[in-house]
Amino acid sequence: MTTTSVGAARPAMLDVRGLKKVYEGRGRSVEAVRDLTFGVASGELVCIVGPSGAGKTTLLRCVAGLLEASGGEVVLDGETVTGPPRGMAVVFQEYGRSLFPWMTVWQNVELPLKEKKVPRAERRRLAEESLEAVGLADVAKAHPWQLSGGMQQRVAIARAIAYEPQILLMDEPFAAVDAQTRADLEDLVRSLWRRLGITVLFVTHDIDESVYLGQRVIVLSGSPTVVLEEVAVDLPGERDQLTTRSLPRFAELRSHVYELVQRAKRGHRPGS
Ligand code: ADP
Repeated sequence: MTTTSVGAARPAMLDVRGLKKVYEGRGRSVEAVRDLTFGVASGELVCIVGPSGAGKTTLLRCVAGLLEASGGEVVLDGETVTGPPRGMAVVFQEYGRSLFPWMTVWQNVELPLKEKKVPRAERRRLAEESLEAVGLADVAKAHPWQLSGGMQQRVAIARAIAYEPQILLMDEPFAAVDAQTRADLEDLVRSLWRRLGITVLFVTHDIDESVYLGQRVIVLSGSPTVVLEEVAVDLPGERDQLTTRSLPRFAELRSHVYELVQRAKRGHRPGS
């Protein structure tokens, strides 16, 4: 079979250049990320996969400005990231911990907009539209703990898109929900991405998910991490769980990414 290894075709909105992260502590240091370089173009949906412990979360936290890099840099829209950038929203795996339980769904979605000093009428419009987009308009007055895990994660997604980010980072956002909910949430992300034209960087350890969602899959080596390969996902833009996943090309791509991840687990590095 053939696969294409690619870099971003358009100028990058997000540029990760020679990123390195070493955790230092109590006489011990862990080199989590050795040398990562890749770009994400404006409007692209890129997935990052790699074995557990490959440094995916570390990478995302550096990109989000939540963790200081030990070397290299992250550049967003021409500016080096030194703290959480204004034009970025992040959806984490632990939806339970990322929503405030004492606030209603509506208040959770509205909060970052208040912090951004968005005027009241505009806040109302954005919160209404984003809750509508994730199918939660009718539970706006509920509290997160009254909702299922999948619904809570949809609140987190609504909060992120209401913020109108230039770029949306997602760190294994569906790892804690059941398979059916996960499939629904994957479709929600793709439809929002297509409709809103936002740039999405999606981290997952699920190979099928990365191929189903992405236009490009960046496969990481095992720790200390480098990019093992970038795989172009040349599947039709119009995707659905049944048709897309039964395409022969889907099977080829998932096998290819699977093999790469297996190699990464065995310590394979580019050129070795
Ligand atoms: P992934 O998300 O791919 O599972 P992580 O980014 O969580 O990988 O971790 C990458 C490596 O860095 C692992 O070896 C992990 O043990 C180590 N690591 C992560 N966080 C810390 C930390 N705060 N202190 C020390 N080591 C860490």
